[in-house]
Order: sequence, then structure tokens, then C-alpha cells
Amino acid sequence: MKVLGIETSCDETGVAVYDTGAGLLAHALYSQVAMHAEYGGVVPELASRDHVRKLLPLVHEVLGDAGLQVADLDGVAYTAGPGLVGALLVGAGTARALAWALDVPAVAVHHMEGHLLAPLLEDDPAGRPEPPFVALLVSGGHTQLVHVEGIGRYRLLGETLDDAAGEAFDKTAKLMGLPYPGGPRLAALAPQGREGAYRFPRPMTNRPGLDFSFSGLKTQVLTAWQESDRSDQARADIARGFEEAVVDTLAIKCERALDEAGCDTLVVAGGVGANERLRAKLGEMARRRGGRVAFPRPAFCTDNGAMIAFAGALRLQAGQHEGPEVRVTPRWDMETLPAA
Ligand code: ATP
Ligand code: MG
Ligand code: FE
Repeated sequence: MKVLGIETSCDETGVAVYDTGAGLLAHALYSQVAMHAEYGGVVPELASRDHVRKLLPLVHEVLGDAGLQVADLDGVAYTAGPGLVGALLVGAGTARALAWALDVPAVAVHHMEGHLLAPLLEDDPAGRPEPPFVALLVSGGHTQLVHVEGIGRYRLLGETLDDAAGEAFDKTAKLMGLPYPGGPRLAALAPQGREGAYRFPRPMTNRPGLDFSFSGLKTQVLTAWQESDRSDQARADIARGFEEAVVDTLAIKCERALDEAGCDTLVVAGGVGANERLRAKLGEMARRRGGRVAFPRPAFCTDNGAMIAFAGALRLQAGQHEGPEVRVTPRWDMETLPAA
């Protein structure tokens, strides 16, 4: 079954074709980041308009790369939420119309389920991590620990009470004068920082529970930055101290979640999953426990069409699809999803 995947929940237009037999056939991404940089953040109306401009050319490109005609598609998957309503409607409307014209099923995909399943896209089906496992979802809008008992069987173990980890990276970068979007830039600076120059607290690790809080860290960084000589070295030192605090905090809670859920497999997804210190730290933890940790390739940690094509294909294989109406769900709790 060849499934077209369409991602338009925020500022990335992502398109891919996943074949349930042959795996990922092609994928393409257009990032609007340069357009939004001028405003220091995503402008929803501009995002929608740019998805309208870019989506069909990307579909054309991906089908060409896969060596397919549009009539070869057996289904169309699209991100239906959570995300920006106007941006979601561009993908949903286009996907629904395509599926209607081709007389194939359309399937609505939850964006975070797409992220969560992205690590499973990497392996050949025989090597895929099998539920039950614990998933750490660390993106620009979410920081969640989820007990995954099967596809669509998700139990929230803990989540952030304020900023998401990616958001903390972005805000911290901004307050030290790094250009938008700052998270990856801050992470790139951190290895130039000196070990031990700054040590920030590991929030909420000294009490039981699996929730997170990252907004206080930002304030600590601001104070440190204001009291520093604001040199490039100080910025790198603080970036390193900040990154270590976030990564240690995530690792401590992941290990606690694995213990609580009685699992030895951890699956990590979302943009912060591209962070090299996090990948190394969680890899170390998994080895020490004799368990396993799975990540998507860095390019599939952030938003992409491949994860939507893949998640959609699994749901289509389970016989799930939408009716003829165009439906988006800007706020959508993953625990309400049906099992596949
Ligand atoms: P959500 O998926 O919650 O709706 P989103 O789609 O905006 O949010 P993603 O695209 O998954 O989020 O990830 C983007 C986030 O990942 C940004 O906050 C960015 O700063 C962060 N990020 C990307 N690369 C890195 C990195 N190497 N280190 C730390 N953070 C990173
Ligand atoms: Mg983005
Ligand atoms: Fe995302």
C-alpha cells in the first residue's frame, strides 16, 4: 500500500510516500523558517498562505522522486492536529480533495503520534521496537512521557507544567541574543562551552513524579547572562550549562518512567531528539540498564511528511479512515486516539 503523507501543522510543509512493502519511497520538506525569522516567531496567517503555495509542487516533486503517478497512491494521510488551524486546513483540504478525486481513503493523523512513531520508520520491520515501551516526546510544543502499549494505546505518564523543552531552548537562545530559531544554534554552541563553568538546577528531579518544568531555568540563564561579560565564551559556557541541565533532567525522568512502566525500551521523538548530548546520554543510560533506546534520524526528529505517511499507513492497514468531511482538531489529546 502506497500512502502519501502531508504535514502542514506549523511552519514546515512536509510530503512523503511510504510503501507498506518497500518502506519510505521519497520525502521532501519546505521550511518557512526564513520567512518567519523577520518576525521572531511563526505568523499563522503567513504560514497558511505559504503552505498553499508550496504543497502541490512538493507533492509533484515527491511523486516524481518515487517514480509514481498520482493514480498509484492507495491512500492519503494528513496531519489533522494539534497545530495552527489555518495551516492544518491547507493540508487537510488538499489531502481530502486528492483522496476524493482518486477514490482512495484519507486518514487524519495526530501530529504527536507521527513524531512518536518516527523512530519505528528507521528499522526494517523485523528490527522495530515493539510496544510496550516508553516514549519521550520532546518538541517545540510538547514534553511528554508516554507509556505506549500499542499503536493508539497511549497513557500519559508525565508532561511539562510550563515550557516545552524545545521552547526552553528557543527562549534561552533568544535572551542571549541568538537569532531565531535559536534552539539548534544554542545546541551548536554548547560543545564550545567549558565544562563546569556554569551549573544550573535540574528542575523537579528531587521529588517523585514524572512532570517537568523548564521555565525557571530560563530565568536562571538570564541572570547568569546579565552577570557575565557577555562574551562569546560566556555565551557558549552558559549554553553548555543549560543544555546539560535540560538533558540530565530528561534522562533522570526517562529512567524513572522506564522503572515505573516496567519497560526496558525507550523511544525518543520530536525536535529536541536531534540534540547530540541527549542522544549520547540516553544511549549511555540504555546500555547501563541493558535496555534499548531508539531515535529517528535527526532530520525526522523535527516536522516532516515521512512520519505522517508512516503513521497514516499503519492506521489505514488497520482499516481506519475518515468520512468525506474535512476535519481538523487544533487541540487534540493523544490519549483519546483509537487503538489500531
Ligand atoms: P510540536 O511538535 O510540539 O507541535 P514543533 O513541531 O514546533 O512542536 P518540532 O518540529 O518537533 O516541534 O521541533 C522543533 C523544536 O526542536 C524547536 O523548539 C527547536 O529548538 C528544537 N530543536 C531542534 N534541534 C535541536 C537540537 N539540536 N537541540 C535542542 N533542541 C533542538
Ligand atoms: Mg517547525
Ligand atoms: Fe512537531
